[in-house]
Amino acid sequence: MSEFLLPNEKDARVRSRNYRGEIIRDAVRLTESQKILGNGLSYCVNTYGCQANVRDGEVICGILEEMGFTATEEMSMADLIILNTCAIRENAENKVVGELGYLQSYKRRNPNLIVGMCGCMAQEPQMARKIVEKYPIVDLMFGTHNIYRLPALLENIMKNDVRSIEVLSRQGNIYEGLPTIRSSRHKAFVNIMDGCDKFCTYCIVPYTRGQQRSRLMQDVLDECRQLTENGYREITLIGQNVNAYGKDLDEGYDFADLLNRVADIGTERIRFTTSHPWDFTDAMVDAIAQRENIMPFIHLPLQSGNDEILKKMGRRYTREQYLELYDKIVSRVKDVAVSTDIIVGFPNETHEQFIDTLKVVDYCRYDNAYSFIFSPRESTPAARMEDRVPIEEKKERLALLNQKLGEYSKMHNKQCEGKVFDVLIDGVSKTDSTVMCGYTRQQKLVNFRSEKGRVGDIINVRITEGMKNSLNGVDVSDERADNE
Ligand code: SF4
Repeated sequence: MSEFLLPNEKDARVRSRNYRGEIIRDAVRLTESQKILGNGLSYCVNTYGCQANVRDGEVICGILEEMGFTATEEMSMADLIILNTCAIRENAENKVVGELGYLQSYKRRNPNLIVGMCGCMAQEPQMARKIVEKYPIVDLMFGTHNIYRLPALLENIMKNDVRSIEVLSRQGNIYEGLPTIRSSRHKAFVNIMDGCDKFCTYCIVPYTRGQQRSRLMQDVLDECRQLTENGYREITLIGQNVNAYGKDLDEGYDFADLLNRVADIGTERIRFTTSHPWDFTDAMVDAIAQRENIMPFIHLPLQSGNDEILKKMGRRYTREQYLELYDKIVSRVKDVAVSTDIIVGFPNETHEQFIDTLKVVDYCRYDNAYSFIFSPRESTPAARMEDRVPIEEKKERLALLNQKLGEYSKMHNKQCEGKVFDVLIDGVSKTDSTVMCGYTRQQKLVNFRSEKGRVGDIINVRITEGMKNSLNGVDVSDERADNE
């Protein structure tokens, strides 16, 4: 194991006040031999988890294609398979471990198959060690801090027939100008920052993605301008906590400034995720309210509606502060839709504390929500907290919460019936080419029939039926949208 570089918790936890991530431009410079290493070989990258992982997956594909590899959807045909993993909850990890078991059969059929793992599971010290020890089929492992090392690590495997295991635990740098293959031609994710310093007690992200580090505004604007000039109609600004953008830079600008500058570029649809209520300023609410091309949709994680639990979670806001922000947003942003994240069954959460969460849900009546049972993550403080709440009780709470959340999202979707919305077409049904799907400005999923619509078009759709998690509609492009 000594020749392998594995992550360690101590380094992953370090946050030094004056640390500034270096901005490294064009970190991937291929040698002549690396440029042809993938000739005639195919690859498959399976990405799990959040938008940040999707964006990393696009960079990994970009690097592999510069090395001559060709993408294949057919995993059984691939010469290189990379699992780009997520560690946010246990079930995300179980999926990957299950997949590794499955890949054993591929490796038996094709001993030259290279199996790689990257992403947040590779950054978790205990998990990375377990994978390397228990799954010898994993030839390649790298983390969220050294994607640019992929060519050298692959070359080492292919030339020396050894395993390449290199995962760095550190605060992290910013890499600009990395190769990329976008997963869509009409909408794109743009990283505005990486890492997080909030250290919510249940969350593994600060350990797997390092210190919060914002990209320079000019680099973000250049990327957004380039995408818009290339015909992209929707840009989503992504970060673990976008509202903290710029706080780690002494540049005097923040997320509200960035939103306005990106809106000035003129991209038709601008979105952002993920927000943290603690850093959400009035200027940010105003930017969303005043700019036509910033979409009226906000994902505002609550996590719990009880102050004691919020304190144990380290969320740094109270229920009252959260509701004050919520009221500000819905009163200032016209036709806004709000979604959230909620954890039930946090260690020793009482029934009364859970009821407080239900009360906030009754108050906010979210358009959409993601709800989870607390999943202890190794290395996090919450994983070491005493917890006497039986799992059955947690499951009952989740069922009760989901029923309520479902009623409210259906209520909002019912209220859309008869109205016309402009929808960005994302895809075509696999079974019927006239059935398409896309999202409204409020990030509501719509399935509808259209003779003329094409993927990437923005068309007007009249809603015929509101269901719990989606809308049905018809293409009425000759009519005005209700939000025009
Ligand atoms: S703000 Fe989000 S990403 Fe950061 S520690 Fe908290 S939950 Fe995790």
